[in-house]
Amino acid sequence: MKANCWYGKRDVRVEDVAEPRILNRRDAIVKITTTAICGSDLHLYNGFVPTMQKGDILGHEFMGEVVEIGPDVRNLKQGDRVVVAFPISCGKCFFCQKELFSLCENSNPNPWMAQKLFGQSPAGLYGYTHMLGGFAGGQAEYARVPFADVGAIKIPNGLADDQVVFLSDIFPTGYMAAENCNIEPGDTVAVWGCGPVGQFAVRSALLLGAERVFGIDRFPERLRMAEDGGAEAINYEEADVYDILMEKTSGLGPDSCIDAVGLEAHVPGLIGAYDRVKQALMLESDRPHVFRQAVLACRKGGTVSVPGVYGGFDDKIPLGSLMNKGLTIKTGQTHVQHYMRPLLERIQNGEIDPSFVITHRMRLEDAAQGYEIFLNKTDDCVKVVLKPNETYPMTTKANRFSDDKVLSDRQSDHSAFSKGGATMAEEHEARQPYKCAVCGAKFDSQDQLQNHLKICTQKKSQ
Ligand code: NAD
Ligand code: ZN
Ligand code: ZN
Repeated sequence: MKANCWYGKRDVRVEDVAEPRILNRRDAIVKITTTAICGSDLHLYNGFVPTMQKGDILGHEFMGEVVEIGPDVRNLKQGDRVVVAFPISCGKCFFCQKELFSLCENSNPNPWMAQKLFGQSPAGLYGYTHMLGGFAGGQAEYARVPFADVGAIKIPNGLADDQVVFLSDIFPTGYMAAENCNIEPGDTVAVWGCGPVGQFAVRSALLLGAERVFGIDRFPERLRMAEDGGAEAINYEEADVYDILMEKTSGLGPDSCIDAVGLEAHVPGLIGAYDRVKQALMLESDRPHVFRQAVLACRKGGTVSVPGVYGGFDDKIPLGSLMNKGLTIKTGQTHVQHYMRPLLERIQNGEIDPSFVITHRMRLEDAAQGYEIFLNKTDDCVKVVLKPNETYPMTTKANRFSDDKVLSDRQSDHSAFSKGGATMAEEHEARQPYKCAVCGAKFDSQDQLQNHLKICTQKKSQ
């Protein structure tokens, strides 16, 4: 099958790779009809997140049709059309039981890597580093969906892919960012970043009852889109963000501030040079400029909500402001499974049509071009979706086609699905590199192998 693979900084390639197959009883294989490029993918594309390996399949926002299913997935069947949540979650552990799905204890096979950086490991994610599981992503023709009974939601007929695909990530992410603000009637909310996540944060804040929302960015088309969603636009290149927010809120500051930018904030001026140099020398993981601004601007006792992704250890965080103003910080990878059903209902009720954010629909083969356009925001790009199993031509904003296909037009040929890819045994083997030369048994560590050898060689000599 074809898949979009990571090869290093600004280097992604669509290649032929082995098709996935069922490895565990709760797996499903999904034939992908729509997948998207996320701002989080740009952090990988720009080489800022460690533990990617050449050839890794990217992508964590995808949907499609179930073509094969493990025996323990009882709520889905072949032919179902599903959207898949980007965190992989078992549904049974302490965290999943609390619906903190992105913190699942059971889905990352490499927790020790994440523990080194974070103290504890969050859930495994599709196409997002070996530290978070090394799972093949969804910018591909097919994907294996572990714990499919928890991570895939069935989509009713009558809704187009483009209306529902963002239930996989950016709609719940913008929504959770707004929900984390505990919005009360009359509240003002400032959203830094009018990328796809910021767009959904703006609209969700209004859905949740905010009176005024400010959208902050520098790209006119993104600011316009935020205005279309009900925000007051602030171009940070034209005004001092702190000053203008104070002016607009009678000197109080916004009740909540949402950082929908994350670790690659664009930072003009001296402080920008400071962060850029430190990040390049690996003395600082991120450029936390927006987080700093959000803390300083937030009204006393308010909330700073951070959907933007950060990776490590950062400088000059205004802890004094945070502490003395009694702010609350809320953040996290999104607990997508918690939000998919209620947000699907909002789409069905016509409260929101998430497809507004799409500016580019492209073939999977054009993924490299899609990354470039999305990164550089050329051609007024806000969000790129890829259509792996369609033969659409590459389209630009000027030449958009509408995606009104629903499953009924798209009954696929199940028999065309051939098997390939790693088996469970192969995956397990890769994780157990110490092999007994006498009996062939495999172990996780040298110590385990040594202990085993004592018994094994004894047995052999008996
Ligand atoms: P994006 O790159 O398209 O959008 C980021 C926007 O921030 C851009 O429009 C950019 O112009 C703007 N920006 C940059 N510097 C700024 C500044 N100083 N002030 C104001 N705006 C600034 O990406 P996206 O898809 O919208 O994602 C945004 C962030 O959310 C990324 O960090 C991404 O990794 C993260 N994300 C998190 C989750 C989660 O689960 N928490 C899920 C999806 C995405
Ligand atoms: Zn994403
Ligand atoms: Zn779990």
